[in-house]
Amino acid sequence: MQITWTQERVERLAQLFAEGLPTAEIGRRLGLTKNAVIGRLYRNSMTRREPTLKVQPRRNVFEFAGPSCLWPFGHPDDANFHFCGARPEPGKPYCPEHAAIAYIRPKESNAA
Ligand SMILES: [Zn+2]
Repeated sequence: MQITWTQERVERLAQLFAEGLPTAEIGRRLGLTKNAVIGRLYRNSMTRREPTLKVQPRRNVFEFAGPSCLWPFGHPDDANFHFCGARPEPGKPYCPEHAAIAYIRPKESNAA
């Protein structure tokens, strides 16, 4: 099955993912299989290994041109809603800073 990842579709994917929807639900809304959604998210992170020659002038979802942190700022209904846009960690949708928040380790240190 040929999947055309239009910019609109990628933006929608990023938005739904940021809202915390399960990949199966994202796929249903986009008319894609769950695997297609996972594959795209995975590829987004992995493209980090390629040399980045393009300069991303602005950090917002409408300039979604490559791997970028999907941490949302503001509410999706807000006009100024946007994603962080920083470089994500390999295999993760967030930059190191936001990954640290998103993936809080269950075991906390004893520092009091
Ligand atoms: Zn970030």
